[in-house]
Amino acid sequence: MELLDILNDITTEARELNGEEKSFKLWMPKRVVFTADALEQAYGQKIYERIKELNLNIEIAKNNRITGLRGKDERETYRIAKNTLAIVNAPPSAFNLRPIPPSADWQFHLAEGCPAHCQYCYLAGSLSGPPAIRVFANLPQILENTIKFESLNQVTSFEASCYTDPLSLEHLTGGLAESINHFADRPNTHLRFVTKFDNVSGLLNLNHQGRTRFRSSLNADVIARKLEGGTPNVSVRIKALRKMALPRQQGGGGYPIGVVLAPIMPIPDWELHYSKLMDELELNLNFEIDLTFELITHRFTPGSRDILMEWYPNTSLDFSETNRAIKRNKFGGHKYVFVKELMKELKSFFEAEIARRFPNARILYWT
Ligand code: SF4
Repeated sequence: MELLDILNDITTEARELNGEEKSFKLWMPKRVVFTADALEQAYGQKIYERIKELNLNIEIAKNNRITGLRGKDERETYRIAKNTLAIVNAPPSAFNLRPIPPSADWQFHLAEGCPAHCQYCYLAGSLSGPPAIRVFANLPQILENTIKFESLNQVTSFEASCYTDPLSLEHLTGGLAESINHFADRPNTHLRFVTKFDNVSGLLNLNHQGRTRFRSSLNADVIARKLEGGTPNVSVRIKALRKMALPRQQGGGGYPIGVVLAPIMPIPDWELHYSKLMDELELNLNFEIDLTFELITHRFTPGSRDILMEWYPNTSLDFSETNRAIKRNKFGGHKYVFVKELMKELKSFFEAEIARRFPNARILYWT
């Protein structure tokens, strides 16, 4: 099947899932740059062929440096960078995996950066420099390296979405399929990733052996519409989640799944808005299912707030310190979280809603 056929399929599927004529358009970068080193990798070549098939213009950076990402101010830099896909080799530090509690034992990266425009994006302040999307051409070596971090006698989990939304790039890179196939062959491992995207067609038929958990990042519809630019709407994401979880015999992917509710915000009438989201989930996940929840309230650091305010000066996101408490970390930094009483109220609401609707689901953590 040609790549364009697959993309057409995805488009049709998005239409059906959406129940709307207008489907979510997959991201196509305006600029694609390969470093010379990345092109020497077999996987780099695979990406090159995909991009060529999509008729996107390709530049080769001979000195292995990606330049031309800066504009005259932060907003222009943001615009240029968010339209740029760079295919590079991950540096040696990418092979020294770091733990990522409470989500997983270790994190590894297929890419850094994301084409969406969430006004609370947790990447602001975590990644330095212009927010271009960098995909790693030495992914097969990165995956091979994870073997060194496996424990002997217990399942070791690996998180793949700390610095990117991997499904947002899958049509351009195929990196998730590579990763799912890798972990399918490793007993005692568990791959996890989370996404706001819905183009799951290419993942449904992979022989994942139940070792990958597909998680969807969801929020109240009114929050997603206002703050999550460049992403499919919440209903479409829920339909994709259902599809990934449905048994193979019913045309689904048969994956264990998860819901990441984030960032939880006590907007006016929040109980009503979040109840609607839970109703829709309950309606769509109405079969026997291996389901987890992760519950993450909105938080920000002074640094991430400054960056986000530059990127989205007209945001309606509440960055005020009202209702906020300061949480310090061991490195002397701090972030703003909701005050204790509000946290308690939110927590009991979500725990009760989940227990009532999904008695067999596990809540992995609240934060
Ligand atoms: S989808 Fe995730 S990584 Fe991408 S912009 Fe939104 S919050 Fe950031």
